[in-house]
Amino acid sequence: MITSKIKKEELDDFYQSKFEYYRNVSGYSAMLIALLEMTYFVTDCQIFGRFAYETLVPRFFIAIPLLIFWYFYPQIQTYKLGTLCYYIFPHAAMWCTIWAIWYLPNRDFAREGFIIMHFAFLAIGIATPLKYHIIVHACLLLNIVISNMWNHYASFSLMITLALPLYIGVVLMLYILENSYADQYLIKKKLEYSSISDELTGAFNRHKLDELVDKSTGRFTFSKNTVLLMLDIDYFKKVNDTYGHEAGDEILKFVVSEIKNQVYGKDYIIRWGGEEFIILLVDYTTDQALRFAEKLRASIESSDNGICPVTISVGLCRYNKNENYHDTIDKADQALYYAKEHGRNQVINYADMEK
Ligand code: GH3
Ligand code: MG
Ligand code: MG
Repeated sequence: MITSKIKKEELDDFYQSKFEYYRNVSGYSAMLIALLEMTYFVTDCQIFGRFAYETLVPRFFIAIPLLIFWYFYPQIQTYKLGTLCYYIFPHAAMWCTIWAIWYLPNRDFAREGFIIMHFAFLAIGIATPLKYHIIVHACLLLNIVISNMWNHYASFSLMITLALPLYIGVVLMLYILENSYADQYLIKKKLEYSSISDELTGAFNRHKLDELVDKSTGRFTFSKNTVLLMLDIDYFKKVNDTYGHEAGDEILKFVVSEIKNQVYGKDYIIRWGGEEFIILLVDYTTDQALRFAEKLRASIESSDNGICPVTISVGLCRYNKNENYHDTIDKADQALYYAKEHGRNQVINYADMEK
């Protein structure tokens, strides 16, 4: 089961990632299936030994869904819509075949046509969740059973006997492919995570901001009230000089763990550089943010970190929804500078500084 590798809450993201990766493989395969169906007209002519005008409409009827699909193809971006649209083609091709076979003097050839359809299902199944594929592919058997009611295939039982192992084979193959994509997905997620996180402290690094900001406007994407804190450890050079760089690293980890103890899941801790951190408090009023910052400052000052007492200075600025996030960072930085200039170990709100 895929859930042994991918957590249940991550499944949707996994299927979407798989779809995006294989989207074109399966999408173009779906279109090729429609073209293949039309080429069967040539074999119809061979069976008749003349121009098979009877099967002209059934064979070329598939051009209608093909043209619609082709037009809307760029808009098919989610795996659910993809599953819905892509599987139309092997089924449409089957029903066009069933329709054409009605006119053929020898209906035995349907067997070959139906066998080829399994490969069409295989190509489409690459991009879609296996759990959906198992159901939709099984409908191929249903198509044969239903159409036998009026097409009366001479080799009906042979068709089913051939279809069953092919169906099971394709499902097993897709199972292997889905599992191998799961391994790739997990590696991709790990790389994505390490590209936005700081190895030493476990906070995010500044690349995380790219994810939180609308590139065209420079505004944060969350609509809730947000307050930005810029935090810097006081006299940190002295800590390094006195206790060594490794001890300095431990202090950095200690500061981040103190922040982590106080933030909620929706807030972000970003290592801005060196021993400076940005904390994004999402859904906070300025007063709540000031209380948060003061509590954090006091707890860092009073906690035993095992090396030496440290203090922090904090610049705070409320995010104005219409402004570029760089402006908010600049203002919080000015507040931090003010805190440093006026004795350190304190929290300064940019708005109070302006007065
Ligand atoms: P101030 O109170 O004005 O902030 O004084 P400061 O000594 O903290 O000055 P500043 O903020 O400029 O000091 C930054 C220091 O942080 C310099 C650098 O050696 C140290 N630093 C930066 N990154 C790391 C790191 O990853 N590990 C350690 N141990 N030290 C770091
Ligand atoms: Mg400092
Ligand atoms: Mg600094």
